[in-house]
Amino acid sequence: MRPDNPARTGIERDPLVEFVLKDAEANVLCPATKLWNTGHGANVMREAVSLMGGYGITEDCPGFLAGKWMDAQLEATYEGPEAVQRRQLTITMTSEVFLAQFRAWTAAMRRIASTNPGSGACTLASAMQMWLWTLNHLQKATDAAGNKLYHGQRQGVTFPMADALCWLLASRCQILDVLELERRGASDPAVADSLTGTVQFLSDLCHVQAAQAAGEVGRICAELVFGYNRHPAWDDEGISCCFSACELAEYEETMPGISAFATDVLSVDGRHPRKAGPCAGCAGAESFMQLQNKLSRCLSGSRLAKDRAAQTVSAVMIPEALDYPLRASSASRAAVSTQLPRRRAT
Ligand SMILES: Cc1cc2nc3c(=O)[nH]c(=O)nc-3n(C[C@H](O)[C@H](O)[C@H](O)COP(=O)(O)OP(=O)(O)OC[C@H]3O[C@@H](n4cnc5c(N)ncnc54)[C@H](O)[C@@H]3O)c2cc1C
Repeated sequence: MRPDNPARTGIERDPLVEFVLKDAEANVLCPATKLWNTGHGANVMREAVSLMGGYGITEDCPGFLAGKWMDAQLEATYEGPEAVQRRQLTITMTSEVFLAQFRAWTAAMRRIASTNPGSGACTLASAMQMWLWTLNHLQKATDAAGNKLYHGQRQGVTFPMADALCWLLASRCQILDVLELERRGASDPAVADSLTGTVQFLSDLCHVQAAQAAGEVGRICAELVFGYNRHPAWDDEGISCCFSACELAEYEETMPGISAFATDVLSVDGRHPRKAGPCAGCAGAESFMQLQNKLSRCLSGSRLAKDRAAQTVSAVMIPEALDYPLRASSASRAAVSTQLPRRRAT
């Protein structure tokens, strides 16, 4: 039983209930872990290679980054490639038992945020709320042609929702890990001395990650909520929703300031602004807009956390001794390269 999950109190002592809860959780966490860790790992490895410039692609680069990049892609492929994990998530993440736990996790993140405000837990809770709202919406909504949005064969909808969930779960696990370190670190001689600084640094990283997760979830959800609606055009239907300049001038006399709310105004001779069509509305998705607005404001402080974490990293000492073996060919090339001017790490 995790202390952060209020859904598991009392009744969870029943072994059958405990099994059902754990089964629902594992059916999501197992594919999510395989999918997100390997995929994100491969993306991060590409960035690590890129940091070193052309040197990063060579075998001489310390850490064999290019080899690890390929290894990461291998991990993403075997034992079930990404699409297979997404397919499984598509089914398991809509289980009522899992969703009940997900709601409890969201509430727990808010509570964690009240004691650890710099951890990004509040940002994450807002993103979790948005994901859940979007899932409920997609299960009822249809596209512009009246076709159901959320069903097994429509991977353009279900797969991105699975990806978005993985961002949330990864960030949640990271926050819970740091809380565990904070709780128990003092009794571990390996970290006890520097516990306060370590927890602060890792909390900043949590905040950065939560902000990135929130950004990904916000983007994915907005695309799915609005992307299947037809964009209004300058046809009779679209124009009928616009104000005309004369009409607006008349309204302005009785309702001063109304012009500020008119997004699309047709000129006296009937010409419309030069753009794709009248701006799309948000009928049925007003609560989504509120969540989106809130989520953007929840990102406050995340870049300050990133600056702090970067400052900390710049003060870390990297040991001279390599912690990995050199291969024979690289070792001999490294021996030669010591006679060359040292490459500046820029
Ligand atoms: C280094 C390495 C070691 C391996 N070792 C073993 C081993 O020991 N034993 C063993 O049995 N196998 C092994 N494999 C094979 C591995 O399990 C398969 O490569 C993997 O399951 C992907 O199958 P595939 O290559 O046929 O690709 P495919 O299944 O053809 O996939 C191709 C693409 O289609 C996507 N896709 C697949 N199914 C769907 C779907 N239903 N809907 C949407 N998209 C889909 C995939 O995500 C992928 O992008 C190994 C592979 C590697 C790279």
